Amino acid sequence: MTYVIAQPCIDIKDRACVIECPVDCIYEGNRTLYINPAECVDCHACEPVCPVEAIFYEDDLPQQWAQYKAINAEYFESPTGSRNEPFATGDHPTIAALSPQSSPKNDIALFAIRKEEAADADLWFPL
Ligand code: SF4
Ligand code: SF4
Repeated sequence: MTYVIAQPCIDIKDRACVIECPVDCIYEGNRTLYINPAECVDCHACEPVCPVEAIFYEDDLPQQWAQYKAINAEYFESPTGSRNEPFATGDHPTIAALSPQSSPKNDIALFAIRKEEAADADLWFPL
């Protein structure tokens, strides 16, 4: 089993997840990052730090991003056969073909606001 990086990471790449991963199984492409399913140990450390909620446990992937499980895995099956020498574009072909993703900085700002609101809610309604 593995965690998967889905579409919201594209053109963001702040690498917060890379810092958290204890086994260094998150690799950087040209436009997004990819989790190697053969190396991920399902520790969950990366998921809460993603500012745009791009990381999911594979069974929890939203339907519209279901293909990202294969996209992450296939990135490590590049034509060169080496995980360190990805596709010529630096990305899985599906990612490389996407148009630029909009307003990544706005997405991160909205995420920060939601986090602040959640913190306020915890203050008023402690567990
Ligand atoms: S779940 Fe853990 S091991 Fe897997 S990518 Fe995230 S931080 Fe790395
Ligand atoms: S933390 Fe999220 S947006 Fe940042 S690089 Fe990782 S998956 Fe991409």
